[in-house]
Amino acid sequence: MELPQHHDVVLLLGAPGAGKGTQARFLAETLGVPHVASGDLLREHRNRGDELGKAAQVYMDRGDLVPDTLVVDMIMHRLNEPDAADGALLDGFPRTIGQAHALDAALVERGLPIRRAVYLEVSRGTLTDRLSGRWTCPSCQSTYHDRFSPSPAAPLCGRCGGVLYQREDDRREAVENRINVYLRDTTPVIDHYDRLGVLARVNGDGEIEQVRDALRLAVDPVPVPVPAHVAA
Ligand code: ADP
Ligand code: ADP
Ligand code: ZN
Repeated sequence: MELPQHHDVVLLLGAPGAGKGTQARFLAETLGVPHVASGDLLREHRNRGDELGKAAQVYMDRGDLVPDTLVVDMIMHRLNEPDAADGALLDGFPRTIGQAHALDAALVERGLPIRRAVYLEVSRGTLTDRLSGRWTCPSCQSTYHDRFSPSPAAPLCGRCGGVLYQREDDRREAVENRINVYLRDTTPVIDHYDRLGVLARVNGDGEIEQVRDALRLAVDPVPVPVPAHVAA
């Protein structure tokens, strides 16, 4: 069966610091769907100081996961907005089996298939190198790296001029915890989508451009084979 070009959901899975946010910005544009990042949304709530933001703060500071009910409600709310009616690129969600089951059920109800769950695979040493040098924009949530991907306007954001900062949870103690939480709670999510037959593994250790090309291939709808005499 041929998949439609835009009308479906792509999941971007991977450890903290794997490069999900960096790649999602390109990929969402390629796919023509909005980029929905649970971490970005939670930080926006926290910055606004609303009830969800206050409830999430203590978990986020420790590097623990925010409880499923809060995160699932937030994402469902976001997916109900008109720009997500035809699909979305989900970054950082689902992160637990409970979240995955809630998402699967909601998508079945909406008639939106999951085109791919892409697992951005990165070695542990690379993760800590990336997180320790990460600088984040408070306004548009773009990320930079002081060595691997500096902002052309440092110390300001090259996209919107925001003053870049280092996330509190990118400190070493919180990083160790986040990686352990990821291994315990999120690895089963990867197995879940593997069993459903939608998982694609992409090596995330390379340069940003290399990873971007590999990701584009991984989310392409299966190409219709061109007969040899036409291709020639
Ligand atoms: P990273 O990009 O480093 O993987 P995120 O920005 O996605 O981190 O998430 C930051 C924090 O927000 C997490 O450590 C966690 O506390 C919370 N968070 C983000 N997404 C989820 C989720 N799907 N479920 C529970 N907590 C989440
Ligand atoms: P995630 O959203 O998965 O937590 P980010 O996209 O924020 O990860 O990337 C983490 C850090 O690593 C950022 O500082 C980013 O600039 C940098 N980074 C992302 N991809 C690469 C890459 N392929 N090579 C080197 N550094 C990268
Ligand atoms: Zn910015």
